[in-house]
Amino acid sequence: MSILQKIRAGLQKFMAGRRGADELSMALLIVGVVLSMLSTIFRLPVLYWLSLAVYIFSLYRMLSRNLEKRYAENATFLKLWRGKSSAVRQSVNRMKNMKQYKYFKCPECKSRIRLPRGVGEVTVTCGKCHHAFKQKA
Ligand SMILES: [Zn+2]
Repeated sequence: MSILQKIRAGLQKFMAGRRGADELSMALLIVGVVLSMLSTIFRLPVLYWLSLAVYIFSLYRMLSRNLEKRYAENATFLKLWRGKSSAVRQSVNRMKNMKQYKYFKCPECKSRIRLPRGVGEVTVTCGKCHHAFKQKA
């Protein structure tokens, strides 16, 4: 066995039963890098210590053997992250299509509806709650 294979085998043995880097740990590492860059740019030692704490927490998560808890943390993070990123994507889409579509909310359930611009006043039936109302576009 070469030295590299030995190192690899040892590492695999060490990481057995640990979660390793999941999405939350990687996000924490990125936050840590950003914080340490900001601490250098603005010469704020508190940001440096904060970034160190974030690195340590990320490492702790990667090496933790409490897989259930780490899995739940990661699932919560992914849920929040996907919610935020899809909200951002939707608002970017609305901005892109503002010239073609008029966007408004259903007065009953507040779900978002769009109409092609220039159709005049039409009766709209909400796809979610089936409430019908007049709308100009
Ligand atoms: Zn509705």
